[in-house]
Amino acid sequence: MKKSAASVLLLGLAGILSAPCALAAKTSDAQVREATELLARLVGTPTVAGRGQVPVLADALAKRLVAGGFAAEDVQVVPMGETAYLTARYRGTGAKRPMLISNHMDVVEARREDWKRDPFVLATADGYHFGRGVSDNKFDIAMVVETLLRLKREGFTPSRDIILVFSGDEETAMKTTAALAELYPDAEFLINGDGGGGTLDSGHKPLTYSLQTAEKSYASYTLTVTNAGGHSSRPRPDNAIYQLADALKRLQAYAFPVMHTETTRGFFDFTGKQRGDALGAAMRRFAADSADAAAIAEISSDPGYNANLRTTCVATLLQGGHAENALPQKAVATVNCRIFPGVSVESVRATLAAVVADPAVTVAVVDEPFSSDASPLREDVQRAVRKAVDANFPGLAVVPEMSNGATDSQYFRAAGIPSYGASGLYMRDEDGYAHGLDERVPVSAVPRGLKHWHALLTELAK
Ligand SMILES: [Zn+2]
Repeated sequence: MKKSAASVLLLGLAGILSAPCALAAKTSDAQVREATELLARLVGTPTVAGRGQVPVLADALAKRLVAGGFAAEDVQVVPMGETAYLTARYRGTGAKRPMLISNHMDVVEARREDWKRDPFVLATADGYHFGRGVSDNKFDIAMVVETLLRLKREGFTPSRDIILVFSGDEETAMKTTAALAELYPDAEFLINGDGGGGTLDSGHKPLTYSLQTAEKSYASYTLTVTNAGGHSSRPRPDNAIYQLADALKRLQAYAFPVMHTETTRGFFDFTGKQRGDALGAAMRRFAADSADAAAIAEISSDPGYNANLRTTCVATLLQGGHAENALPQKAVATVNCRIFPGVSVESVRATLAAVVADPAVTVAVVDEPFSSDASPLREDVQRAVRKAVDANFPGLAVVPEMSNGATDSQYFRAAGIPSYGASGLYMRDEDGYAHGLDERVPVSAVPRGLKHWHALLTELAK
């Protein structure tokens, strides 16, 4: 979307916002239309890294929030390089400490020639809205902003400040996230639209709702062996490539210790009940007794569930030697680790060094990664999420989740702010095309998302 189009939109929406039908207490057709309009404008702004469009989108959102009743001084767009972050404060009575609501405004690249339709024009067909970022994560931006504007219209005064913290480079450097995580040390907790959410089965019926309370952290390490080298016609027992290979074989044979949190135990208990097979039985036994070795062995045989049991590290890149006819002077392997909450980056490095058990192999951390703890299953957040889920699907199971990937929440958790992924998006696993081609959300997701955020925010800030 071009700048001029954004301004036209704002004028158009100001008209819609003042329409009397928007004052209805329940989610109305007008509100769904308005939210879909906003989603279209968000998708229409190609906020891919390097295109400089995040500030354009942030400005448009800021203007909408101010037009909808936010005090101008409470809404800020702060540029950082070619991107920007947005903060906006919905003032409450101050009876409770503030809560933060995060989402990210940037999206992963999408090329026109790879897509069936223009990825930066919202297209509606076959019961879906298509477009880059429509699920990750512009859907929840649109739903949250619409909900806050509705609450303003309804004259809702929260018991705590509700502060939007929208990042602008979550998919890349996360510099805006790092900055945002330091701004509100007094915040009680954070709700992230970019995590958790509802799952529909293949027949579009609700299956579960995931409340994300933890993420594994990402860190890479190098294993390096150096050697004086020499002529390949005179091989010696010491050899950088052989030494590195031996070290990697020891790492391959090693499994990090099994760990668990209330979230992972809850997850295994629920998933085990749902499955009803041998693996499911093992999950339930592990949830009841985290020392059950047979259950652990059974769960570990599944790569996806094994990742929920422990830190994992795996060799991903290899380089070594400098000539066909020379003894190698250097061999390096990169090992990528996904670290269980509560485990430090340095302790994983120390474990890797102990496992390779060869002083000739140097183990070093790549870049400056950090790890974060799990957030506790807060009673108030669980109650509010229960209410939000019930608003769409009364009684649907809410399952705590630790994801193996990472979002903005990792920075807030590391800054001491408990963070919860509680997206309002319900969709089928097979419709998950985030970062891929023809990214989509069901048309039915919009009214559900509005109901979800209205129930969630009013309960958390009542
Ligand atoms: Zn995302």
